[in-house]
Amino acid sequence: MGKRAVVVGGGIGGLAAAIGLRRVGWEVMVVERAVELDDVGAGISLAANGLRALDELGVGEAVRAASRGQYTGGTRTPDGRWLARMDGAALEKAVGTPIMGIPRATLHRLLRAALPVEVLLVGQEARVVRQCGPEGVRVECGDTVLEADVIVAADGVGSKVRGLLLPAHPGPVHSGSAVLRAITEQAVELRTDFELTWGRGAEFGHIAFPDGRAEWHAVLNLPTGVRFDDPLGELRRRFSTWHEPIRALLDSTNPGDVLHHDVNELRTPLPSYVIGSVALLGDAAHAMTPNLGQGACQALEDAVTLAAALGSEPTVEAALARYDAERRPRSQAVARAARQAGRMGQQLAHPLPVALRNTAMRLTPSRAAVRMILRHHDWTPPSLGSKGVG
Ligand code: FAD
Repeated sequence: MGKRAVVVGGGIGGLAAAIGLRRVGWEVMVVERAVELDDVGAGISLAANGLRALDELGVGEAVRAASRGQYTGGTRTPDGRWLARMDGAALEKAVGTPIMGIPRATLHRLLRAALPVEVLLVGQEARVVRQCGPEGVRVECGDTVLEADVIVAADGVGSKVRGLLLPAHPGPVHSGSAVLRAITEQAVELRTDFELTWGRGAEFGHIAFPDGRAEWHAVLNLPTGVRFDDPLGELRRRFSTWHEPIRALLDSTNPGDVLHHDVNELRTPLPSYVIGSVALLGDAAHAMTPNLGQGACQALEDAVTLAAALGSEPTVEAALARYDAERRPRSQAVARAARQAGRMGQQLAHPLPVALRNTAMRLTPSRAAVRMILRHHDWTPPSLGSKGVG
């Protein structure tokens, strides 16, 4: 079977796929359109499934060492009352780890460090992808043309490769929400590792990091394209009556660090993650709303599953068919669950359904909540063995 892949996109999914493919003995190049491979974004939480995938890629230990376990916290109402407590210790008992919080830039750096520098071609935008002969496929990035046995399209929610290969698919749509987020400039005194607070059509949350800083995010029901002149001032106004530590987190933030993005998702599921010799992976395949904190974890699952299939099946065709069969149902189910979680959580705005939801949450025993979480987190990666380089 062929042994050369080109990965389009150097995000979490693309870098993980490149590491996995090298571990099963493939030659890999990653083309990334950005000139600097520095992931924007604030923080990210990694659940057991994502961490197990990282273990299989050989970087789990380094990622854990740079992360903070989310043992305490949960979901609150704007006046500070608890709707549900996070039981990180119960989760750890069930799946061997609590959810871990890490700055995105750190995760990205650790993934990059697992690849030789010459594997990453930055400042190269894939513009054309075409089949060349029955078994080869080609990516054209301006003057740079790369041929491979497999192309991994890990070019994110707005995937150009997906648009070229599945032109009839409607592509991503706006979820109805926007997210503003940042990492605090300095350490903040926090009583919990992780919190979410749900008001009407709005959510505020934080993830604490090992050095005492934290990422916070505010998610608002907001039309696409709306931007604020003074994002931090706007959030201070909108969240002025909400409980602490929200004010403390906003006050510890440099105004220039606040990111504002519309939340888009791939609402129409793809009919296949494989077109010829191209495998779609991560957000390019199943961009989901962030409400379950599973987008990157699913991309990591994709990466390990794809590498395991290419490393063990007799033909590329058989490996890609296995990848599609193993990944599509699960990742699309998680995407549906994330959308549902958003509709019942952050996006719910009418007082009556909000009150009903809050009552239901207060009555749900924490064991049942952990069971619900485990449906997504309890995933076992296929083995990559260690044929190739780490
Ligand atoms: P991306 O990170 O989008 O990477 C795509 C890369 O491809 C980019 O570097 C881009 O520059 C490059 N590219 C694009 N087009 C081209 C081209 N034509 N040629 C070359 N390069 C190209 N997930 C979790 O698991 N846990 C969380 O806590 C979590 N929190 C989130 C919070 C928010 C607010 C959001 C929006 C998402 C969150 N996610 C979370 C989801 C997670 O961020 C994404 O699922 C994940 O980053 C997707 O990774 P990716 O590599 O597939 O895509």
